[in-house]
Amino acid sequence: MQEFLHLLRLEPVNQGASTGVNWLTCDSSKQTTITSPVDGGLIGKINKAGAKEYDQVLATAEKAFQLWRVMPAPKRGEIVRQIGNVLRENKRSLGQLVSYEMGKSLQEGMGEVQEMIDICDFSVGLSRQLYGLTIASERPNHRMMETWQPLGIVGVVTSFNFPVAVWAWNAMIAAVCGDVVIWKPSHKTPLSAIATQNLIADVLKENNVPEGVFSLITGDTREISERITQDHRVPLISATGSTRMGKIVGKACAERFGRTILELGGNNAIILSQEADLKLALPAIVFGAVGTAGQRCTTTRRLIVHDSIYESIREKLVTAYSTLRIGNPLDENNHVGPLIDKEAVHTMQEALKKLKEQGGKVVFGGEVLSGKGYETGTYVRPAICEAKNDYPIVQEETFAPILYLIRYKTIDEAISYQNGVAQGLSSAIFTNNMREMEQFLSPVGSDCGIANVNIGTSGAEIGGAFGGEKETGGGHESGSDSWKMYMRRQTVTINYGSTVPLAQGIKFDL
Ligand code: NAD
Repeated sequence: MQEFLHLLRLEPVNQGASTGVNWLTCDSSKQTTITSPVDGGLIGKINKAGAKEYDQVLATAEKAFQLWRVMPAPKRGEIVRQIGNVLRENKRSLGQLVSYEMGKSLQEGMGEVQEMIDICDFSVGLSRQLYGLTIASERPNHRMMETWQPLGIVGVVTSFNFPVAVWAWNAMIAAVCGDVVIWKPSHKTPLSAIATQNLIADVLKENNVPEGVFSLITGDTREISERITQDHRVPLISATGSTRMGKIVGKACAERFGRTILELGGNNAIILSQEADLKLALPAIVFGAVGTAGQRCTTTRRLIVHDSIYESIREKLVTAYSTLRIGNPLDENNHVGPLIDKEAVHTMQEALKKLKEQGGKVVFGGEVLSGKGYETGTYVRPAICEAKNDYPIVQEETFAPILYLIRYKTIDEAISYQNGVAQGLSSAIFTNNMREMEQFLSPVGSDCGIANVNIGTSGAEIGGAFGGEKETGGGHESGSDSWKMYMRRQTVTINYGSTVPLAQGIKFDL
């Protein structure tokens, strides 16, 4: 453990603000201490940034943008390529830290770093493909086209459950687009962010990248988060986290006409048809529901099961859950690690209580584990519950491993349950019936940003645009043409003729 902290150049006390290579000296009387949900061990302390450091980071980013935006995009891509290589070299140690600070399994921690590497590769290619359209002009001797210009400073607010990947999905794309990035990591997992900043600092230094292209700032919500969301110098905020946070950030940005990419809570369902191939479905359901201890935005929270197979599926799931090994996530034999903190454990217990009050039943698990290896009070046994879709608790996203089983009779009913929640992130159907599959993907099918057939709800490839509808926020980041959100669209018309035809055929003789 000591070794990966050392390799990532984390100190016992770290600073809460960086403009790239340089760390700013923050007030040592305002410290935060980060301990691990895995075993309660101290990972490190951070001197929190305040208003003074915020102003410094902003001013440096503003200056950096003047230089970065005129660097040819493929040259910016070359910096991103080198960042990808540094992440490759340090995949294990950064993955270990993510696992230790957040509590996800080591494999998932390293998988998260792999996603950072993948988005670097994607962005390098993108840096040569920031293309616009040429559009037919209605006027003679005119050419009309669309060009994409860098936007400015992008604020990236990230959630605890993906302490580093969410930043990369945004920052690497933004960087090749010519934007500069200020990262506000989760207050629960800031050391993974600080370690990432340490790693990329080497690349920034070797390439003389101006200070302010990649900055990081962490401190109290009021001092930092609220400030950045209200700051008119930051034209785009990409915020990942709860719907509660998204409502505040969305409103603050809208008031100043700032742009947002909001990646918020999910309440994801799998429809399990009587015509499903259970060999595919069962592992996908179990991984989707218990992976990252139910703390993924794409976690499977509801399983909508056909009436004819409901009882047998319930039994099969209970059998599968009984074999889950729960414990230290750095031990690769374990399937499920801890929740992020005791508050999350309490929220899970409250949700199970409410479920029972509302008429539901816990059929397996749900208890807080105690004894050797579980001294932190952050380990729980994943729960399988029986519920109805309209129970208020089922309508909420509880960020814990609770799987609600819901019975359906017709495919129309299943889809109406799937869509019958406020959130709209990820959805899936397991079926070999072509009609059911096509209906699920049709305009009357899933209303989510992600719709999968014969794979679960959890996780997504970086090549596609990632995001969800309704209270999930409507933002899209990562692959496809999400890069357009990080740029300013400009419609350009050039007259190469010798007259000036006015719009709408207006004559204006002088
Ligand atoms: P959170 O909302 O508590 O915090 C997320 C981030 O917002 C943190 O950096 C936090 O410091 C910051 N924040 C909190 N209040 C703020 C405010 N008033 N102004 C500005 N920033 C503020 O969420 P969390 O507990 O870290 O993460 C879990 C949530 O994130 C779940 O709801 C999950 O579904 C969601 N999530 C969504 C996606 C997605 O892509 N849709 C991905 C990961 C996580």
